Amino acid sequence: MRYRTLGNTGLTVSEIGFGTIPILSGNVPVLPDYCSPALPEAVDILMHAYRLGCNFYDTAIPEEYGDAEYKLGVFAEKVGREHIIISDKARFMDGNDMFREVQRSAENLGTAPDIYFVHQVDEKNQDETFSRYGALDALCDLKKAGIIRYTGIATHYYSVAERAAADSRVDVIQTSGNIMERGIMDRIAENDLFRGKGLILNKVYAAGCLIGAFQPSELIGGVLHWPFSCALIGIGTMEQADAALKSDYAPQHFSFSDVTERLAESFAPIACTRCQRCTCPQGYEVHILLRQYNYYHLGKSYWAMKKLRMNIAEVYESCRRCTDRRCMKTCPQKLRIPELIELIYNMTR
Ligand code: SF4
Ligand code: SF4
Repeated sequence: MRYRTLGNTGLTVSEIGFGTIPILSGNVPVLPDYCSPALPEAVDILMHAYRLGCNFYDTAIPEEYGDAEYKLGVFAEKVGREHIIISDKARFMDGNDMFREVQRSAENLGTAPDIYFVHQVDEKNQDETFSRYGALDALCDLKKAGIIRYTGIATHYYSVAERAAADSRVDVIQTSGNIMERGIMDRIAENDLFRGKGLILNKVYAAGCLIGAFQPSELIGGVLHWPFSCALIGIGTMEQADAALKSDYAPQHFSFSDVTERLAESFAPIACTRCQRCTCPQGYEVHILLRQYNYYHLGKSYWAMKKLRMNIAEVYESCRRCTDRRCMKTCPQKLRIPELIELIYNMTR
């Protein structure tokens, strides 16, 4: 295992971290398959990862990650709290709510987390999160009080990550990226604003979608060049822990066309990098719809179809009537977005 520094926090973290979604039990709306190990088995898997050099463990409140927080707490006591770094998160943007959730997390874990993230900050809820008395202010107060050590923002949006990078209250940013959905991390790598912030990467396997077309070694090796501190891999079995943690993977180079060509062996992928440079005056999030199309063909058909049916008909009608087509003007991939929306709409009928 190699280790990297976590921005300016002074922490040293393992290059690969343990994402706890797969060890949860419960019925929560998370995307990846989870393995539901019972408590003793879950603790054994967490301990196995620790012995392979993993010192970073990421979880979330029960509404989001079931009983993962509790299982992680039992492991923390067993391994010795001082040997690991725990990050936790909650999707609450109001300061009072966040204050309460951190206390609840500490009770569930049996120890205070080191880093606490405002989870799923997006373009709609970011103003509340960053506002006076918002969730970020609450985390700062908890940090000053010595209850948590570092504050964090977790987001799948580049614009939010950039706002967090410019905000001195934020210590650590968690965002997503993999060899297919590389747009956010490529932008972060080019932007000096992010230097000095701790950066945690998730969705390296694209919620499991890329496993099959690619080996774990390729998916991990293919992202190592990015300036993150720790890449989280969801782990729910001993075998998954071995695959993610046992080797010091060498960096590998995959061009975007290498990736799409590999995927094209089983379906015709939409070549969207999820860079989020496309803007729509109607506020439609094109990158999410294009992602669902790819995820549909990569084995998440039920989940993707459910999400797409929420608004694809409305987006299709709007795109059909749209004369401005602003989204296409800023797409580096030169994607013909309205035609792709029609393709996706027809797929859902
Ligand atoms: S074609 Fe028009 S309505 Fe459709 S996503 Fe692009 S800008 Fe928005
Ligand atoms: S459609 Fe184009 S601009 Fe929009 S996220 Fe995809 S690659 Fe980026």
